[in-house]
Amino acid sequence: MKIIKVDTYLLKLPLTRPVVAAISTGKRGKPCEQIMMPVIHIETDEGFTGLGYAWTIGTGATAMLAALKDDFTPMLIDEDPLDHERLWQKMYWNTQGVGRHGVMIQAASAVDLALWDLKGKATNLPIYKLLGGAQESTIVYGSDGGWLNMEVDEIIEAAENYMDDGMRGIKLKVGHDDPTIDLERVSQIREGLGDEMWIAVDANQKWDFATALEMGRCFEALDCAWFEEPMICEDIEGHGRLAAQLDIPIALGETLGSKYEIHSFLRANAVDVVQPDITRVGGITEFLKIISMCDAANRIVEPHLMMETSVHLACGVAGVSGLEYMPWLTMAFDTPPELVEGRMVPPERPGLGFEIADGIVDKYRVA
Ligand code: MG
Repeated sequence: MKIIKVDTYLLKLPLTRPVVAAISTGKRGKPCEQIMMPVIHIETDEGFTGLGYAWTIGTGATAMLAALKDDFTPMLIDEDPLDHERLWQKMYWNTQGVGRHGVMIQAASAVDLALWDLKGKATNLPIYKLLGGAQESTIVYGSDGGWLNMEVDEIIEAAENYMDDGMRGIKLKVGHDDPTIDLERVSQIREGLGDEMWIAVDANQKWDFATALEMGRCFEALDCAWFEEPMICEDIEGHGRLAAQLDIPIALGETLGSKYEIHSFLRANAVDVVQPDITRVGGITEFLKIISMCDAANRIVEPHLMMETSVHLACGVAGVSGLEYMPWLTMAFDTPPELVEGRMVPPERPGLGFEIADGIVDKYRVA
């Protein structure tokens, strides 16, 4: 089989609600309201096709599209799409000088998803079955209901809706300039929800070491499930010190761009809950290696966002404990995975199990 054609474009989709997190806001500090989605379609001489995509809020989307079009498309034409390992090596080593993490790896991740989608279709299997069929569904927790720009009442209401959908955990953003506001909010939400839901907190890299240590002790006292991205992701040693001094598990990984970066945190005992993003670490091919590393290091893996594809990892191989329910891209797909009693069920169609829905390209394409 040979790749004969590659199509790429960029979608700009509205978010499910405007969002503010500790270090990520839109233009002039306003809430982010859109998500950018670079898309790739691969066609073969045998009629099989593959769909892949990446995402970004705010910046970098046109650069990703250019990488897909100008750098990766010529590397793919005439290649056998089933050789995902060889093609990953080709993409990585040909762009390493300008890549390693960020835009190039995210574009390569989109290609990798398309190759796996195609492989599933060529073998007539959903990807989670192709990977090993570890389970038929996976737990999810609510993650789109705890933003800094939401009032406590709104967050409790969102959490109750998640509870009605069968979820038993939520994630709250923390990281106000005045951290006492965070403690007040988390206490109120903890009180409002009672013991029926667990609560994780996410500072999106806001604090220095001293503040993170102090806040971590407070979150422990509030019985939070984990403390996510307490400090800047470059500070591996600092996260190691923090993890040694706190009992609450340290979660991170969404801002790391490869298995190498995640390995550095594992070696430094600087992370307990590992949260790679499938479109930031190199797609399924590289994520599988990260799962093995974490398995050997006895760490939990909780994929960051991208539940529609990560569901295949969570159900395909052992060692992935749950998904983050964030339906940012769901509207783009014709048959996205379903949520049944708090668990996500992968589609039974071959490959990823969905295509871009009718009308989406006409309405949301910007490049
Ligand atoms: Mg996070």
